[in-house]
Amino acid sequence: MTFSDFGLSHEVLRAVAAMGFEEPTPIQKKAIPILLTSKDVVGQAQTGTGKTAAFGIPIVERLDRSVHGVQALILSPTRELAIQAAEEMNKLGKVKRLHALPVYGGTSIERQISALRKGVHIVVGTPGRILDHIERKTLTLKDVKIVVLDEADEMLDMGFVDDITRILKETPVERQTLLFSATMPEAILQISKRYMRHPEKIKIHSDTLTAPKINQIFYEVRNEEKIEALSRLIDSGDTGRFLVFCHTKKEADDVSSSLKLRGYVAEAMHGDFSQAQREAVLKKFRESRVDVLVATDVAARGLDISDISHVVNFSIPQNPESYVHRIGRTGRAGKEGVAITFVTPREDKQFRLIKAVSKAQIKRGKLPTKEEVTEARFASLKERIHEFIDDKRFERFLKLAEKLTGEMQPIEATAALLKFMLEGFDAGSGREDAVSLDETGAAPGMARLFMTIGREQSIRPGDIVKEISKKTGIPFNAIKGVNIFEKFTFVEVPREAAEKVIEFMHQSIISGWKVAVAPARPRSRDDGGNGAANRGRRA
Ligand code: ADP
Ligand code: MG
Repeated sequence: MTFSDFGLSHEVLRAVAAMGFEEPTPIQKKAIPILLTSKDVVGQAQTGTGKTAAFGIPIVERLDRSVHGVQALILSPTRELAIQAAEEMNKLGKVKRLHALPVYGGTSIERQISALRKGVHIVVGTPGRILDHIERKTLTLKDVKIVVLDEADEMLDMGFVDDITRILKETPVERQTLLFSATMPEAILQISKRYMRHPEKIKIHSDTLTAPKINQIFYEVRNEEKIEALSRLIDSGDTGRFLVFCHTKKEADDVSSSLKLRGYVAEAMHGDFSQAQREAVLKKFRESRVDVLVATDVAARGLDISDISHVVNFSIPQNPESYVHRIGRTGRAGKEGVAITFVTPREDKQFRLIKAVSKAQIKRGKLPTKEEVTEARFASLKERIHEFIDDKRFERFLKLAEKLTGEMQPIEATAALLKFMLEGFDAGSGREDAVSLDETGAAPGMARLFMTIGREQSIRPGDIVKEISKKTGIPFNAIKGVNIFEKFTFVEVPREAAEKVIEFMHQSIISGWKVAVAPARPRSRDDGGNGAANRGRRA
């Protein structure tokens, strides 16, 4: 079956072809023909299965460019999803020259007003901001033919029911109403009964619920082994982007702190974050300045980040739907993805339920040993070295290499460099060893601490001193050697107060950022140890 079997216009077929869609997805196959008849439809299919185009294609097919006023309204739970859906609608409507505008809160309403005034055919927005515009009379819905409640389960979770009701009242009764959702809790069926006319129900069943291209693996671990297990999996895979799911905000903070202390570029994201912080973290993740994003289910809602190579269920999902939701974040649009689930003995019962209900094929995995991790990292380093040799990217260093091999055995020099690249300079057996407060390389009588906050968070030495003094009662002048780097900071405090400082400062908030604090590793180079800068894991 192809898109041309739907009897669509040339304009729409051309736009779909330009988007690179070859064949309709299962939900599109079922939904498009019914939607074209202007019936109300309730559609259920897993995240990432192309629900937007399932309603988007019939919408652009049916809209008339020459009609003035908004003809289609799509309600979206979050800003990210609204932007994403509006982009998709603009692509679908491109050849017909239909215009879709995303409308969401947290940003200048003036600009949206002037965009609305210019005239748009489709509005995609979050309920709160749409109501805002209705109240200001900058948006009228009297010409609306089609209303879509997109990602309805998420809208419900976010408490938008009343807003949705008020918005629907502003639209003509003879409208076509569509509802799409990954899951169908009872509350959604209630809404469909109240606001839709004899809706046709379409469901893509749960045996096709899990995307086939996702490689699903579980690891049996004890709770206290999870961080080590995650580190090994990150280290042994090809570089990629990890989205790690946690149960609670606290767990997300703890996991991201532990990862940072081990030298990974990680960030947490959860409900306590302000919109600005959320966006800053997301931006970093999109630009790949962060490799691991640790999130709660709520915070991950509506995230649109592509190219996630691994989804990790650090703690077991609450229910099968959540499992399917979470793993749907990887392997989008036909890309390969890996979904990892950690299962502790206590989580085993829940895990078996998830497996049974979602009918997912989840293979048992064996964690790589430390030696295997080193081997894998060595293999990828070797590949990089080959690349460097091929395009002679080391010319400037030949003199230094000559000097080195003149002074010592080449094989020993190479082994030392390999250890540096793969483990960092310090660390006897492994970077995860805790450092004693007496071995931090601080001035006598002092202890040097490592904190996961830096220039990136616009922190200044004065802020650090003030915060430590405020929280622990140590006088300003006893806090020394504040050294701020891009992503972390070192500070020296009196040795006898060091435990207290860690206890009070670890997981505390400085300038709105949660920080992790630990004894610093002895200084090895100008980065000051702690591996964050010298682990070289991107090698
Ligand atoms: P959902 O709303 O079901 O979570 P989306 O509508 O966001 O999923 O679609 C996920 C991705 O799949 C998008 O990048 C979209 O462009 C792409 N996509 C949609 N339909 C097709 C198709 N028929 N062929 C290939 N890719 C598609
Ligand atoms: Mg969607």
